[in-house]
Amino acid sequence: MNDLHIADRVANDVLQKLSEPFQLDGDVVYISASIGITFYPQDATEIDTLVKNADQAMYAAKSHGRNRYHYFTLSMQQAAQTRMRIANDLRVALAGKQFWVAYQPIVELATGNIYKAEALIRWQHPTRGLISPAEFIPIAEETGLIIEVGDWVFREAVKQVQAWRTSLHPEFQISVNKSPVQFHNPNHNTEGWLECLNQLGLPGKSITVEITEGLLLDASSIVTERLFEFRDAGIQVALDDFGTGYSSLSYLKKFDIDYLKIDQSFTRNLAFGSEDMALCEAIIEMAHKLGLAVIAEGVETPEQRELLISAGCDYAQGYLFAKPMQPLEFESFLENGTDFSFLKDE
Ligand code: C2E
Ligand code: CA
Ligand code: CA
Repeated sequence: MNDLHIADRVANDVLQKLSEPFQLDGDVVYISASIGITFYPQDATEIDTLVKNADQAMYAAKSHGRNRYHYFTLSMQQAAQTRMRIANDLRVALAGKQFWVAYQPIVELATGNIYKAEALIRWQHPTRGLISPAEFIPIAEETGLIIEVGDWVFREAVKQVQAWRTSLHPEFQISVNKSPVQFHNPNHNTEGWLECLNQLGLPGKSITVEITEGLLLDASSIVTERLFEFRDAGIQVALDDFGTGYSSLSYLKKFDIDYLKIDQSFTRNLAFGSEDMALCEAIIEMAHKLGLAVIAEGVETPEQRELLISAGCDYAQGYLFAKPMQPLEFESFLENGTDFSFLKDE
């Protein structure tokens, strides 16, 4: 307790001193600091671990708004350990056949037809059960494993789209998420993906690659090159989570984007006359003027669907229609008809 008290005082003094303006070459300069604090020997006894702890605590201080200090806590440590374990387990998950791909239908709003789906990876961990991609994809990105994992998802999706082009719809198309790490990594090459399509005699158009806005903002030449390779091969490109990042509208044309996916945070609060409604209408109108089609994500209610239809939205995806499903489930879902009119009465 005494230690805490002293650390508080020192941290406050440092922050206070640093927050005072000072002169630099005739200019008045303001800076702030973020401080992470960890204790020896309570938190750790090794110098490396102590520095790591302090670093994590400093990031917590930053994420709480900077110009403050944060103590290293047990939960931080537990989170770090979980991440490490997940990273280790990820290394064997692919070989252990622990991944599978779920498919979520993308519905054409004008007709109710379904001939598109998004591939979403699932990890059935032998002891932890189903782990969300939101939890393990960032770790796969940090460790570089996303290259192998992403290639695997792509190959699965290609096999699936070949089957569904025969059994469900000749124009069936599956979209695959591709992380910026995959774009930037020199060990990942587009040729491998194109070869995979060629071997099965599939046109590029049977696959859409979903990217995020951030990728276009810092588009290095390797990113640009790969996007153009996709375009030249006929693979379509969708801009995922549109409206949540730094939208760079001029890039929509430059990179030949085919679809905008309106993020679920806009869909969620859709109501007649609402700000989100105005945003959706503006996004849809702009996209159409640029020749892009729009997919609304996270559609959960008939009201949202109706509002999107009235705004001219092309496609929708969400729990209202179906959750991401195993391939067999997906097939029986389509076979049982895709008439959603019953939902109107809910
Ligand atoms: P995302 O690409 O934005 O995918 C949409 C997410 O929304 C999916 O979560 C989906 O299950 C969920 N979702 C669909 N409809 C609804 C709805 O009506 N309401 C709500 N609340 N959610 C809905 P999921 O499958 O957990 O995936 C999370 C994220 O993980 C994905 O977000 C994507 O960024 C990433 N991810 C998933 N699979 C892959 C993959 O194979 N590769 C890469 N790089 N990332 C992936
Ligand atoms: Ca996506
Ligand atoms: Ca999304």
